[in-house]
Amino acid sequence: MHCQPIRKREVYIWLKNTQKCLICDEATETADCVCNACETELPWLMEHCEVCALPLAMDGLVCGQCLRQPPAFKQVIAPWTYSFPVDTLISRFKHQARWPLGHMLGRLLGHYLQHRFDNHPLTRPDILLPVPMARRRLRERGYNQALMLARWLSADLNLPHDEHLLLRPYETVAQQALDAKTRKRNLLNAFALAPGADVRGRHLALVDDVLTTGATAHSLARLLINAGARQVDVYCLARTPKPGT
Ligand SMILES: [Zn+2]
Ligand SMILES: [Zn+2]
Repeated sequence: MHCQPIRKREVYIWLKNTQKCLICDEATETADCVCNACETELPWLMEHCEVCALPLAMDGLVCGQCLRQPPAFKQVIAPWTYSFPVDTLISRFKHQARWPLGHMLGRLLGHYLQHRFDNHPLTRPDILLPVPMARRRLRERGYNQALMLARWLSADLNLPHDEHLLLRPYETVAQQALDAKTRKRNLLNAFALAPGADVRGRHLALVDDVLTTGATAHSLARLLINAGARQVDVYCLARTPKPGT
């Protein structure tokens, strides 16, 4: 007895489906790299500051820091808080060159942004700009994870990206080691626009993996706004909660 040709094809596809979830290693129902159960369990960012996406107790508020010193960017869009397992996944992507993990997170960020473009008042930017990495750092690591994210988002969202517009000509001390005040001073002259770059009237979106204090995003946004950009948004995978919470 033979199967109908169409059933044969289904059985064939089922037998060939070796797609495993990158988080739990179980077979996935679809061609996605993450199973539905793991996707639901991710630490989705709930109530947060309207500007910097800092987790807050209530929605629709602006945090004290953004009220006191409004940042140069308009809003941060991040699907997750920087906690387990997203922190581990990002760290493996970033420090162990586990690119499939980064690609999976980038994909999900792309879906999230597309949903926001379609259903919530989020305007598509003119161009995506990855946060640049200083040359020495780039030599050590071999790749810029923000640039990889920007390329994946660019393809998934059909938006152009420009990896040469923002420059990081000066070496800066690694930001993690510094307190907020020193971070700001450290970043004051860290970035520059490429010679001849014209951002006047443009709506730009910075792309990075994690937003910690927002100092880097603020410095870059200020540079772009001072050069005539109309609006700067920030897209990242995860937002860190306030230290100590
Ligand atoms: Zn899973
Ligand atoms: Zn805020």
